[in-house]
Amino acid sequence: MAEPVDARCARELTAVFEELGAADAGALAALEALCFSSPWSEAQFVSSFGQAAFRAFGLRAAGRLAGYAAVYCGADELELLNIAVLPELRRQGLGARLLDGVLQAARKTGMNRGLLEVRVGNAPARALYESFGFAPVGRRKRYYADTGEDALVYQLDLASREECCMRKIVAANWKMYKTRGEAAATATALRRLLDGNMPEGRDVVVFPPFLAVSAVAEALAGADRMAVGAQDVYPAAEGAFTGEVSPAMLRDGGASWVLVGHSERRHVLGEDDAFVGRKAAFALEQGLKIMVCVGETLEEREAGRLEAVLARQLDAAFAGVRAAGCGDLAVAYEPVWAIGTGKVAGPREIAEAHALVRRLLVRRFPEFGNNVAILYGGSVKPANAASIIALDNVDGLLVGGASLDAESFSAIVRA
Ligand code: PEP
Repeated sequence: MAEPVDARCARELTAVFEELGAADAGALAALEALCFSSPWSEAQFVSSFGQAAFRAFGLRAAGRLAGYAAVYCGADELELLNIAVLPELRRQGLGARLLDGVLQAARKTGMNRGLLEVRVGNAPARALYESFGFAPVGRRKRYYADTGEDALVYQLDLASREECCMRKIVAANWKMYKTRGEAAATATALRRLLDGNMPEGRDVVVFPPFLAVSAVAEALAGADRMAVGAQDVYPAAEGAFTGEVSPAMLRDGGASWVLVGHSERRHVLGEDDAFVGRKAAFALEQGLKIMVCVGETLEEREAGRLEAVLARQLDAAFAGVRAAGCGDLAVAYEPVWAIGTGKVAGPREIAEAHALVRRLLVRRFPEFGNNVAILYGGSVKPANAASIIALDNVDGLLVGGASLDAESFSAIVRA
């Protein structure tokens, strides 16, 4: 008999966090006392976590209990009873990490809904929950005995992302490599390796140089789940823009996707955030799907500016975007220091950045931000692709150097 969803979810949570029991009641009570005006007593902890229905999961930092989440795993919904993080660690995003881990476990195991209650006046907590896509669905009058405050009931639909995440996009950026003949030959070889034989749940997009877009589109015409895109676009229908290419010209050449804001365009060709935003909005309006590239330089990362840089780039890229749904767009997180350098971001760095991008997407597109694909790019090779694509919130890969050869790229698609 299949294991029930609630048991699977608890098992997944136990794999990610340390499960706490009655023996941890003292440490939990001390943590609560630091976090809340009316903390639970040790006796409440012992009686609550002594019951099988409630489970508490802790996060340790520097050898001490730095935060915990208490949850109730129902048949198909997960209720978050309490979440607390040491005040001095909140600014480091520990609360978000805890919440993200709990929600990932719930999604992975097929939970449909997340639920929680929060004090009406607790603005920071409400902002955190809302950034993960929780929305208020009700109000409980005078719910908190200590202050008589109302509680807001928040709910998050978890099921839709589960479905969407079944598919992953593996994209090839051929940069300024390959003549038309070379591009057509590589696309034909790729089709031979993948068409009719595409691994379950994968979509391929090839981004050749402009002049080869139509040759690649012809080589891939009618192939199953293989699309063509362009590496750039100009945000106007037509006009005196020497050297530029419009969305209609790209569609005419057979492109259905376009990259905007690739790091080489930002850092080598000097494109700024606002220009990237104009391209994104116009290309989408003109019927192309957009893959928005974002990522920090090493200097920005080392200065602790990862979140600020990603937020600035995404805000600008989507400022004028009126997307109808998650299928219209994707985001590629590509740390600049990992592109073409052979340096791959580590799993924790990737998971952290992707979780940040997810929160920013949900904030920008509350109805479908949870379902937008987030690809990782930066020195992906056949040998590291499988471990990267398996990470939480990694919905695909954008591959440069290793996509130039059909065998190597098809090995990545199969990873
Ligand atoms: C890219 O061009 O988007 C890229 C990720 O390149 P590489 O795989 O060569 O690092």
